[in-house]
Amino acid sequence: MRIDLHAHTTISDGTDTPTQLVRKAKAVGVDVLGITDHDTTAGWEEASQVAVAEGVSLVRGAEISCSIDGRTVHMLAYLFRPEPRLTRHFEDATAVRRERARQIVDNLAADYPITWENVLAIAGESQVVGRPHIADALIAAGVFHSREEVFATVLHPKHKYYVHYQAPDPREVIADIRAAGGVPVWAHPRATKRGKVVPTAAFSGMVTAGLFGVEVWHRDHSPEMVAAISAIADHYGLEKLGSSDYHGTGKPNQLGENWTRAGVLEKILQQGALPRI
Ligand code: AMP
Ligand code: ZN
Ligand code: FE
Ligand code: FE
Repeated sequence: MRIDLHAHTTISDGTDTPTQLVRKAKAVGVDVLGITDHDTTAGWEEASQVAVAEGVSLVRGAEISCSIDGRTVHMLAYLFRPEPRLTRHFEDATAVRRERARQIVDNLAADYPITWENVLAIAGESQVVGRPHIADALIAAGVFHSREEVFATVLHPKHKYYVHYQAPDPREVIADIRAAGGVPVWAHPRATKRGKVVPTAAFSGMVTAGLFGVEVWHRDHSPEMVAAISAIADHYGLEKLGSSDYHGTGKPNQLGENWTRAGVLEKILQQGALPRI
């Protein structure tokens, strides 16, 4: 059984609609798919309908923006009830990220042909405006060729155009995910090419708060990082997941390129408040 529990759609910064994502999962032989758009559940309904029609098993989730000491942490949440205690973070993140994206565009506009209107047009139905949409606007303007290229240069956190955003502490978010009946998993904890990562010491507080597991097998982790995170996970008794973090054509990540073991999925299903589709 192929289980890939981390994928994005046009509802956040992926390029496939929820319908296209589920059909793609079917086409490439993913049996259990997680839909985890950034800070929104707005893709759940469409994805659920198509999952039933296509015979793909769907695990509903989201990827929640958090930070510690100015360093970004992405917290996956699975099978939670979309209650205010948790979804308030989505509303905050949507507003804060939008304002921050506007500031980055302002900074870039001094040197590049880009406007906020361009970026909004590209974001389209997306609930969350982020750097991927800014990258797409620069690509549409002919300045760069790929999101990868833009992220490695003018959108990198070390660059002068970058603006950080305030996000809640992951320990608070983990507690809120659990209170909403969800299952919290720390996404790509060592994705160093995206900027500074949170130190290993942060694991213990998250474990105490109720962390279920951690993404070990992820494209942004080198073999050394995989070994290091596995050892930390074993030390704390955390479950280990592997995922693609598929974004459609916006990233090289291919659906099903990493997967999660069936035994880990079983535990997520036992602990989560919602059934799988
Ligand atoms: P933001 O939340 O606006 O800072 O944008 C971060 C998002 O950009 C991440 O969640 C990824 O989906 C995406 N991203 C990060 N690095 C890259 C990359 N190298 N190429 C394309 N997309 C990326
Ligand atoms: Zn993303
Ligand atoms: Fe992420
Ligand atoms: Fe992601």
